[in-house]
Amino acid sequence: MAQKQFKAESKRLLDMMIHSIYTHREIFLRELISNASDAIDKLYYQTLQDGNTGLARQDFFVEIVPDRENRTLTVRDNGCGMNREELETNLGTIAKSGSLSFKKENEPKEDIDIIGQFGVGFYSAFMVSDDVTVISRKFGEENAWKWHSTGSAGYTVEPAEKGSHGTEIIMKIKENTEEENYDEFLDQWRLRDIVKKYSDYIRYPIRMEVEKSRPKEKPEGAPEDAKPEYETYTEEETLNSMVPIWRKNKSELTHEDYVAFYREKFFDYNEPLRVIHSSTEGASTYNALLFIPEKAPFDYYTREFEKGLQLYASGVLIMEKCPDLLPDCFSFVRGLVDSQDLSLNISREMLQHDRQLKLIAGRLEKKIKAELEAMLRDEREKYETFFKAFGRQLKFGVYSDYGAHTELLRDLLMFCSSSEKKLTTLAEYTARMPEGQKAIYYACGDTVEHIEKLPQTELVRDKGYEILYLTEDVDEFALQTLGKYQDKPFQSVSAGDLGLETEEEKKEAEKQAEEHKELCAFLGEALEGKVKAVRISKRLKTYPVCLTADGPVSLEMEKVFASMPSENKPRAERVLELNPSHPVFETLARLFEGDREKLKTYAGILYGEALLIEGMPLEDPAAFAAAVSSLMAQ
Ligand code: ADP
Repeated sequence: MAQKQFKAESKRLLDMMIHSIYTHREIFLRELISNASDAIDKLYYQTLQDGNTGLARQDFFVEIVPDRENRTLTVRDNGCGMNREELETNLGTIAKSGSLSFKKENEPKEDIDIIGQFGVGFYSAFMVSDDVTVISRKFGEENAWKWHSTGSAGYTVEPAEKGSHGTEIIMKIKENTEEENYDEFLDQWRLRDIVKKYSDYIRYPIRMEVEKSRPKEKPEGAPEDAKPEYETYTEEETLNSMVPIWRKNKSELTHEDYVAFYREKFFDYNEPLRVIHSSTEGASTYNALLFIPEKAPFDYYTREFEKGLQLYASGVLIMEKCPDLLPDCFSFVRGLVDSQDLSLNISREMLQHDRQLKLIAGRLEKKIKAELEAMLRDEREKYETFFKAFGRQLKFGVYSDYGAHTELLRDLLMFCSSSEKKLTTLAEYTARMPEGQKAIYYACGDTVEHIEKLPQTELVRDKGYEILYLTEDVDEFALQTLGKYQDKPFQSVSAGDLGLETEEEKKEAEKQAEEHKELCAFLGEALEGKVKAVRISKRLKTYPVCLTADGPVSLEMEKVFASMPSENKPRAERVLELNPSHPVFETLARLFEGDREKLKTYAGILYGEALLIEGMPLEDPAAFAAAVSSLMAQ
């Protein structure tokens, strides 16, 4: 029979298993049992859906059979089984997405980490065996198939006999070596311990024939004090308690239990930042076990990312990723919900409209918010780690759905600030506001360093007011959607008129504006098509010029719109502001009287400078360079 080759990725994983020096080889059993349980879940779910499989919940089980004589260990289930094609594709081309991509990124890491932390699947059988046979019969089909492999050279598939549906994995256990004891995997007590340790919560019985001994009945007439004789007998025992972790009491569980469960179930190498375990009764009855991850998955901010929680109905997995349980703004949450209120045979389409599901989703949303707030209050550092990974999503959440979630999210937001130089919340900002400050100020730019140097921030800082530094494209949109916080409006330091000057300053500014009206008009004409107006600035202190925007679209927003693929790209109404107390201004005034041609060139240079300060591209870099050069040559 022709030997078939494993796919490249699978061969890699398989080689890792065969050559692993991992000391906790015992986890292979956890992996096989977990596969068996999944296979039963699938068939049970199908049973509930069409109702005529002739099977009931109590018919399902997993069985473990150690055979010392033949040195084999068998793990058997009566789940959905596999046909020929499924055997080939499932066992010939495994590439555990999570673990293997992790391995690539962190190549030098020991195998140990990946094997221990993630589920590594079926191939882990090769940690204890160099001869693995799988006999499987798919539910509803007549024929059974045998898959066999002795390692990375390849595998064979041929017809086989099997009385009923399900899968049987037969491992020839390796011989002991000087360093390794493999016999333990044929020992019923050891196997029982391994099952208890890793697979206790599996919801189907895991059975094993256990050898026991009992005193024989005394023969008639034996003396009273004769020592009893013992006899051995076998009895089938269910090894697991079948209570899933989320149904247990919090008091029974340690942090390690949660972490181990999270890593195994959600393929995350990191510890979760927070575990939320809640049980609720009343209007809706459910258990939820949720995790806030520490890092965003690599595809988190892409279209490919699928949000959702695992959904169980009375302990049976009915959906791997139920998106309706999480609002988009909390799409980073991983975990599961198990409810008795959901009908077991509800279709996925119906589920979306289910009233109970909506109730649960609403309560989870509140719960997640409360937990995030608690983290912000009590575990600031952790919260900041969280916010660095997922803050962007919260800000998108504020902005999207026409601001429907502003109330939910506003107290969870953080921004860098001029006075704190680190992340701060809006509540903290407003608490620090001096009397008389009427608005919450913000400035936008690519980086904090860049924003600190923006001329537009001068006046506000001069007043002693704190400025929020917005460095992400979504930030300003989010603040604009919020509109205000605790009745204080958000105001960009670059917005048209800040209204920060005293009566006197105002008068002085008006005077200046009047005095230089014609100069400004002339410059405005010279920059026709580039700016809407040229004005005498009320905000500049040391810089000669800056760009600001009239109207609702800021320069930063224009940048964001420009980077989007849409047709209609709103532009900011640009205003060039001039600092009347800067020496450059005197030159402008002089040229206005004496050399207006030169003044036009200078207008172009000033506009270019303002663009550069703002981090925006020059419209004609060559012309700008030529103008500056000619200036230097004088
Ligand atoms: P994973 O379980 O993460 O998908 P595995 O390598 O453990 O990866 O298994 C690969 C696939 O083989 C499974 O997704 C499943 O479709 C199939 N499979 C494994 N074990 C069984 C089993 N006992 N019964 C039915 N199908 C199984």
